[in-house]
Parts: sequence; structure tokens; C-alpha cells
Amino acid sequence: MISIHNLKDPSGPILFDGGFGAALQHRGLTSGTPPETWNIARPEEVRKLHAEFVAAGSAIIESNTFGANSCRWHASGERAPLGLVIHEACRLAASAADAKAVVAASTGPLGDVLEPYGELSREQGKHAFREQYSMLKSEGIRVLLIETMMSLDEALLALETAKEVGFDAVGVTMTFEPGPHGPRTAFGVAPAEAARRLSEAGANIVGSNCGSGFDTMRIVAAEFLEHAGVPVLIQPNAGIPVVGADGPMYPETPESFGEFLQELYETGVRLLGGCCGSGPEHIACAKAALRRHSVGGHRINI
Ligand SMILES: [Zn+2]
Repeated sequence: MISIHNLKDPSGPILFDGGFGAALQHRGLTSGTPPETWNIARPEEVRKLHAEFVAAGSAIIESNTFGANSCRWHASGERAPLGLVIHEACRLAASAADAKAVVAASTGPLGDVLEPYGELSREQGKHAFREQYSMLKSEGIRVLLIETMMSLDEALLALETAKEVGFDAVGVTMTFEPGPHGPRTAFGVAPAEAARRLSEAGANIVGSNCGSGFDTMRIVAAEFLEHAGVPVLIQPNAGIPVVGADGPMYPETPESFGEFLQELYETGVRLLGGCCGSGPEHIACAKAALRRHSVGGHRINI
């Protein structure tokens, strides 16, 4: 099992897992239902998906807790207590990790916009982050990932709160779309600015997840590598989804996904995984691609 020290100072590639929500939808979760409901309703499915990622080569797996903050949870109309949802999520991930993988917590935005652009006060936002992070910490989580962030203000508030709660490592990844001046988040944040500000604010890992396909992610990753003062984590979608009758379809095959992660590794990205549309087979192909290529004459040990 990799150590948390490796995560903060990686010498070779470290594989994370793929997108959890989209994979559960593929297995029958109704679109619009929070994936975290399955921690209680379908625990075996959640455990099985984690175990498949571990078997595929994920050294880090993420708890099914992305939307388990009080703002999002209550807005979704779900009634199960958040503490129970988070407890079950951590229990299932730890059981599947089976001492072979590290369990990191997946967390995301609050779903409401902070003042002055939205209605949510900083105090309310901080309270919701603190509640979720404290619950995760009390379940034994040592690595916290703050993902799919679009507002730098919210990402910095989340990071500040996570550092106060106290984890061994905190990673922050933002989501970018292509634009006329290069990739930007929905709030207009450029990758270079995100990389600098989040590194300076004390993130142990920075980078990007989800997003708009490989071409945009290639540019985002290069900017992060240039401007981040800490290791970079990139977790792309399996391409831009096309919505059909059976829900979203992701165009990238496990093989093309694996080749893309290997390409990112060659450019200097050390922490690699996937987001929406990438399942265990994509992670298995990434592992195979990383093994197949040698970098600088050295075989990669993964
Ligand atoms: Zn995604």
C-alpha cells in the first residue's frame, strides 16, 4: 500500500480510481438520485465497485461522499442522517480497500453560491464544510479531496476549513471548460491562477477533475505543472458525454483513456485517475499503458 508521504512527494505514478456516480448509474442508479443513497440502499453494489477499482490497480480509492454535505443533501430532499451516510461510505470503502489501497474522502461543492454572488454566507458555507470534514475525520479518513470546484473563493474556504479540521493531506481539484482565452472554470478562474492560489493556501495536491475532454485537460494539466508548487492530480472524464436514451455515453474507450493518462504521466503528472465515464476497465488500461511505456529508459513500476 502506498504511504501518504508518497502521495505528497511521488516518485512514480500513483493511480486513483474512476468516476463513482456515473458508474453507479451504469449499474442502475436512477439519474437525479444522489449516489450516496446507495451507501445505505445498495451497500453491496458500492462495495463491489470499490473492490473492482482496487483489483484494476487503484492505489487510492475515494469514498462515496462527494455530495454528502448538509447544503446539497438537504436540497436533494434526502432524509437519511448525514452521519450514517458518511459512516457507511467509509466502512464500505475501507472494507473493499482491504489494506491494499488508501481510502481518500471525495467531497465537492456545496451546490449554493457564496455571497456576494449568491445567497450563502461564508459562515453557513464554512459550517457545512466543517460538519462534513469532521464526520469524515472521525471515520478515520486521513486524505481529503475537494473536487469539481469552480469557484476559487469556495475552494479556498473549503481548503481553509479542511486544514483546520486537520488531515494528513488535502487535495483540491477544479473543473475547467474550453473558452476563447483558454480553459476557465464556470466562474472564470484560469488553471494558472488556481494552481498558484491553492498551492500558496496550503493544499498538498492540486489539479483538475471532470471537465470537457482530453484536449482541454491537456492544456489544464500543463498549466498546473508549470504553476503549482505541489504534486498535480489529474482525473479526466472519459471524453465529453453524448446524452442518449440510456443516459450519457462517454466516447473514450478504456484503451484511449489509458493512453491519455500515460501521456499525462510523461509530461510530469504523477497523480492520475478518472472522473465521469471512467470505470474499473479504464483504470486497468491506464495501469497497463503505464507499464508498457518506459519513461527516460526506466520501466515504470506500478
Ligand atoms: Zn466528472
